[in-house]
This record gives sequence, C-alpha cells and structure tokens, in this order.
Amino acid sequence: MKSEQVNQEQEEESDRDYSASENGYVANILDANEPVFWRDVVQVKQSVLNANDISCPICLEPLSNMVCPRITKCGHVYCWTCVLQYLEFEKQRNWKRCALCFDCVYKLDLKPVIIEEIKTFKTNE
Ligand SMILES: [Zn+2]
Ligand SMILES: [Zn+2]
Repeated sequence: MKSEQVNQEQEEESDRDYSASENGYVANILDANEPVFWRDVVQVKQSVLNANDISCPICLEPLSNMVCPRITKCGHVYCWTCVLQYLEFEKQRNWKRCALCFDCVYKLDLKPVIIEEIKTFKTNE
C-alpha cells in the first residue's frame, strides 16, 4: 500500500514535468487556473497596501533601501546580497531555512521582485 502511494506521487511529478516542458507558459495563458510552476517564474510583481511594511529580515532595511530585492518561493522578500550571504553560511547543504517561515530556500529559487503599492483614495481626494 505504501509503495503504491509513492508510485502515484512519482507519476504525478512526471506529469508536471511534461506539461511544464511541453507547454511552457502557453497553458497558463490559455487557462488562468492552470498552475504556474515556480521554476518557470522569471519575475514576481507583488501588490501591497503599504510598501513600508516590507523590510529585509536580515539587515532590516526598508524596501526603498533594499538592493535588488529577491523573493523566495515562500513569498518572503530579501536583499539579493543579504540572502546570498545568508545561503553562503550553509556549508553542508545547498539550501537554508527562510529566516521568517523556515521553508527551504535555494539560491536557484530566488526570483527578482517588483513591489507595487496599491493606491488607496480617501473621499474628497
Ligand atoms: Zn538585507
Ligand atoms: Zn519564508
């Protein structure tokens, strides 16, 4: 029973590989519900209500001072230099736990991120 489950999981994994390499982004363009695989992501655009809420968890610099911000798969934003240095501390493995949520962070999974603040309007503006 247990080995069957493992086999099923492996099959699902190979299906994903197939659809990603065969169709690339086309599947996502045709159907917005089609999942986007993180490895196919080139850049992330994130909309936030208040950009001041975002700061690098390592150097604590606010977003405006962050150098080439990068987003992890878990959705946390770091300075490029800080996260590279952070990953360098790990000599045994090629990944390290996210400083905020303890998810695995791999260098190759870091994507450039553009943060846009959502404009909010008050009455009489
Ligand atoms: Zn930093
Ligand atoms: Zn995280």
